[in-house]
Amino acid sequence: MADLERFKLVIGGKPVDALSGATFESQNPYTGQPWAVLADGSPEDVDAAVTAARAALDGDWGATTGFVRAQLLRRVGDLIAANAERLARLEVSDSGKLYREMIGQMTGLSSWYHYYAGIADKLEGRQIPSPNPNYLVYTRKEPIGVVAAITPWNSPLLLLTWKLAPALAAGCTMVIKPSEHAPASTVALAELFDEAGFPPGVVNVVTSQSPQVGAALAGHPGVNKVAFTGATSTGRHVARAAAENLNPVTLELGGKSPQIVFPDADLAAAANGVISGVFAATGQTCMAGSRLIVHESVHDELVRLVAERASTIRLGDPLDAATEMGPVANAPQYAKVLHYLKTAQDEGATVAYGGAADEGLGGLFVKPTVLTGVGPESTIVREEVFGPVVAAYTFTDEDEAITLANDTPFGLAGAVWTKDVHRAHRVAAKVRAGTVWINAYRVVAPGVPFGGYGLSGIGRENGVDAVEAYTENKSVWVELTGGTRDPFTLG
Ligand code: NAD
Repeated sequence: MADLERFKLVIGGKPVDALSGATFESQNPYTGQPWAVLADGSPEDVDAAVTAARAALDGDWGATTGFVRAQLLRRVGDLIAANAERLARLEVSDSGKLYREMIGQMTGLSSWYHYYAGIADKLEGRQIPSPNPNYLVYTRKEPIGVVAAITPWNSPLLLLTWKLAPALAAGCTMVIKPSEHAPASTVALAELFDEAGFPPGVVNVVTSQSPQVGAALAGHPGVNKVAFTGATSTGRHVARAAAENLNPVTLELGGKSPQIVFPDADLAAAANGVISGVFAATGQTCMAGSRLIVHESVHDELVRLVAERASTIRLGDPLDAATEMGPVANAPQYAKVLHYLKTAQDEGATVAYGGAADEGLGGLFVKPTVLTGVGPESTIVREEVFGPVVAAYTFTDEDEAITLANDTPFGLAGAVWTKDVHRAHRVAAKVRAGTVWINAYRVVAPGVPFGGYGLSGIGRENGVDAVEAYTENKSVWVELTGGTRDPFTLG
């Protein structure tokens, strides 16, 4: 245990042990070895964190102006950029994500804090014309209060930031429960808020290996809003727990996103987009373009191009700059991906490339997999794998392409590949998904809303409007005459 990095809870601005004193280990999925020891929080630690978050809201933090919050957000954005290397290494150790992706992601994280710094000092209420001239009416945007954030193991800091930056801009405080599979980077990030000068208790983290702790936080009566990213099944539990307190929720859930390729598309670009959509990050992204819906006339050629590139993808050490695909992030996820590969083959899918684990590398590696011979009813087409697996099937005309794309309970993202500008916009409008890329895939930015239709979630993160999810809108009526009125009528 001597060599393992140690991470505590962050409550009230201080690193603290779990009240029980318990700890748990986090495994590095590449080495298969434990690399960190974390405090194993309990519902009692959640109580302490919520109390600290409430105290900050009722204290110094609650008294700050948007101008001060903007300054602090800018400062923490700068600190994150300065610490990008350490944060990236923590995420690589915890989840096997590639260093070459994470260093860019961690540096880019700062732009979210800078973006919401720009909003913090512009949260304006309105002066509303009153039908009765005796009143002045205005609205105030107030922080919604203590926010519970529950996050998954893929891109823990990016997905947390989509909640944290707008919540802090609005003046909220937060209690964060990161995934038990990748908790360390969240603790390191929280420490930077202290360094940036945020008052104690604004950002609190309770790590735990028990799902009960997430459940306790989601249903905590001291919380005012719940922001969750994770699986659709867990999202249902979170929404039910929040409903007990009638708390609003934002849910960013799973996906089964279509890549629709028309016969006039640049097939080399489309193949590259398919690769980036489903093999980058080992396919462990909510927006993975895992359904390749391709015109029958170009199916064979496109599958050939994708399979050919898949066969040259370099699997290996996530810290090596030459590696293109790292391991699956944890053992349960590895078992799940292999189970889906078996099910697909049992149901008659043909393997154009991959289709199995890559055991030669020692870690939790799965070959990038291209499947054909599937249809709209195949399990591999209906269920989210969250791994490097794409399933290709065909359409004959535009209407059928749209019908197939929308034949899913999910609706997170999708892409249209065509050179026909009319068709591109027509189809983008008809795909029921929160994000549609045209001749592109897997691009996100602080200013662009992200979220899903259907079982992909509720609400949108990012963009100017995201801050609304963290504010209450208060109406204030001011009587101007000093007179009295008939007390038995509605004014
Ligand atoms: P998960 O649902 O298993 O876990 C997410 C978080 O919820 C973890 O912190 C976990 O400890 C916690 N949790 C577990 N049970 C809980 C309960 N009963 N109540 C409250 N919290 C509970 O998800 P995961 O496996 O960590 O992440 C993968 C999933 O996340 C995929 O389905 C993926 O599509 C989804 N995802 C969505 C987006 C998006 O933006 N839409 C982004 C990334 C990941």
